[in-house]
Amino acid sequence: MSLERLKKEMVDMGEFGRDPQRRVKCHADLDPEKGVTRPCGTDANKKARDYVVARMEEAGLKVNVDKVGNIYGRLDGKKDKGVIWAGSHVDSVLNGGQFDGTLGVMTALEATRRLMEEGHENYRPIEVVVYTGEEGSAFPMALLGSSILIGKVTYEQALAAKNRNGETLEDVLDRMGYKGNFERKLDDVEYSLELHVEQGPVLDAEGIPVGIVENITGLAWILATIEGEENHAGTTPMKMRKDALLAASEIISIVNKNALDLLNKYGGSTVGTVGRFNAFPGAPNIVPGRVEVGIDVRDVVEKNLNFMIDEAKKALKNLEKKYGVSVSMEMPFGVHKAAPLSPEVVDTIEKSAQEIKVTAKRMNSGAGHDSQNIAEKIKTGMIFVPSAKGISHAPMEWTEWEDIEKGTKVLTQTLKNLSMKK
Ligand SMILES: [Zn+2]
Repeated sequence: MSLERLKKEMVDMGEFGRDPQRRVKCHADLDPEKGVTRPCGTDANKKARDYVVARMEEAGLKVNVDKVGNIYGRLDGKKDKGVIWAGSHVDSVLNGGQFDGTLGVMTALEATRRLMEEGHENYRPIEVVVYTGEEGSAFPMALLGSSILIGKVTYEQALAAKNRNGETLEDVLDRMGYKGNFERKLDDVEYSLELHVEQGPVLDAEGIPVGIVENITGLAWILATIEGEENHAGTTPMKMRKDALLAASEIISIVNKNALDLLNKYGGSTVGTVGRFNAFPGAPNIVPGRVEVGIDVRDVVEKNLNFMIDEAKKALKNLEKKYGVSVSMEMPFGVHKAAPLSPEVVDTIEKSAQEIKVTAKRMNSGAGHDSQNIAEKIKTGMIFVPSAKGISHAPMEWTEWEDIEKGTKVLTQTLKNLSMKK
């Protein structure tokens, strides 16, 4: 049975980069009490790539690897142009889950195989794609493979990027045997699909097996350093302090309140988080002299995202006067704009789900994906399947097999419908 085949392949893939330490027990059949660590360029990443390529070749797909290690497994169509991509990534964060990315690659392969096995004659070519370095867990750029494809980053820049060990991307691709010799152009590609775990709690909580993504959220980070005056906690009078931590603490509730205000006003999907908060020197008997604050704000509506950014910056600046501290801030990657996905593809996914009687709902993605890059150039859609309890980027990441099967069926039907378009 096809689900059995897909399940076996997911179990096999989960062994590449399996973390040795045991974690909380959660599900029985996929050894999920341990996570996977498979950043781009590691031995585990090579093994996962080799496994996928072997399965592609077994299925009769023609495999090509471009200059930055993106992998394409191609099923020719009756015509050359109007290629449809389906895929995701096989690298992971440190101690991540085994579904993030990998499920999108293996279901794309499974969907293509199912179409071949049922004798479907695709008019358009289909390519199963594996993007290089999605997570940014090895090299400092996230969404690496897709950033190059759309020209956001040059091949030279990407290949020269260094990981923590000082090796370049070119070095690690060479070592893994995944430095191809061509630059993939997008001229002949018309559609792109990515199945992915939701990485949030909505589908699981509502008991809906499939999500159809309409927008991928916009995102910005503000990293601030607040400098006060480190001093003796016993001898420095309250009125003579420049307490950096006291000042910084205001920011947490301001960011939270701004997000809640927007939610109350517009509904929507605004989130705001202060996820980093380090106080120095960090002793109970010293007035904190310096605090590092990391703020993450996201929204699919550009105006709201800008509001979150502006208000956070303003609030940080206001601390200077109120507390006598000095504040510096930076936005390390600027603003990742929200990416609306293709209405045509969204409609096709919805229609495909209806045809095979799978319940699906339209939603937004709060996490970033290669598809947000690809959507800038080609018509792109994403299919979500539930993440149990919304957990992701963690060993306990889990999706029920019956939901995976429903998602795979929707992906297969969507590929079928798109591949017949003249
Ligand atoms: Zn992912």
